[in-house]
Amino acid sequence: KLHNELQELKGNIRVYCRIRPFLPGQREKQSSIEYVGENGELIIVNPAKQGKESRRSFKFNKVYSQAATQAEVFSDTQPLIQSVLDGYNVCIFAYGQTGSGKTYTMTGPDKASEDEWGVNYRALNHLFQTSQNREHAFSYEISVQMVEIYNEQVRDLLSSDTSQKRYPSLCSQPNGLAVPDATMYPVKATSDVLHLMDVGLKNRAKGSTALNERSSRSHSILSIHARGVDQKTRSSMQSSLHLVDLAGSERVDRSEVTGDRLKEAQHINKSLSALGDVISALAQKSPHIPYRNSKLTQVLQGSLGGNAKTLMFVQLNPEVNSYSETLSTLKFAERAS
Ligand code: ADP
Ligand code: MG
Repeated sequence: KLHNELQELKGNIRVYCRIRPFLPGQREKQSSIEYVGENGELIIVNPAKQGKESRRSFKFNKVYSQAATQAEVFSDTQPLIQSVLDGYNVCIFAYGQTGSGKTYTMTGPDKASEDEWGVNYRALNHLFQTSQNREHAFSYEISVQMVEIYNEQVRDLLSSDTSQKRYPSLCSQPNGLAVPDATMYPVKATSDVLHLMDVGLKNRAKGSTALNERSSRSHSILSIHARGVDQKTRSSMQSSLHLVDLAGSERVDRSEVTGDRLKEAQHINKSLSALGDVISALAQKSPHIPYRNSKLTQVLQGSLGGNAKTLMFVQLNPEVNSYSETLSTLKFAERAS
């Protein structure tokens, strides 16, 4: 109960930190993560320092160790998904440097088995299941949009017009659909969504050298809209769930990049700091929330703040040579909690 009250005070923002396992060939002994507690504590060590000064501790709503499974992570996410069908807007996003497991958490690995499914698929499964269970009382219509934000431009990833990239404009009313012109598909089952996500991913890769490269430099947003009608009273409610795989948060060395790369880096930097500013303003209950500073925060506006529920996955790479990125990721997350 106390926990819930604290949540309310914090404007409904939860922060879950997840540590990626070492990948084959990585040296496990050299980790920047020293301790993971049961109650969301985390201690990291700076390899360049000695003694007490080398340690820093953090506290979040949850911290998942490297052993956490996709199912465990989802079990803590499920209540939020459930609340979408009760009329709440929900935003779930993954933040972290490239290679820290954002896509793994949100979607899963390439060619995932059902066990390895990420939050996206599990969320949709849960939505369809719950809506079926409630069929006698409510009828739900669920539909999906998928967009990408790259260099402060929104691109429709589900446009059937594959020869031409589509750049829909944003709606300025926070209560309506954020991107009303982006293609919207009604869906009836998780398999429909799997298919659409496939289409979206293929469109995303077009025009870029490699999907991985592209995906580390753009934000992808899967938006699920639910409309429920009460069978008895005929009253209706509408809500959205945004599932966001953010661009990599790593700082780019200005001396090493020029031209397009530099421009990309600046856009990413701008939008991630805009997101950080919005979340920290919400956490502090500030009267002014600066939504308008980036396309990302404009698209997510209806699902950040107000009654909306927000969950941030903070993804960490455990390798010691990622220490400085890990620290800056954790500092970003700290502003939200
Ligand atoms: P990001 O999207 O942040 O760039 P990825 O999700 O692509 O990072 O993860 C990088 C690599 O680590 C991928 O090969 C991915 O499958 C693997 N990986 C990430 N998290 C986990 C995890 N929890 N368990 C197993 N493998 C993981
Ligand atoms: Mg990724």
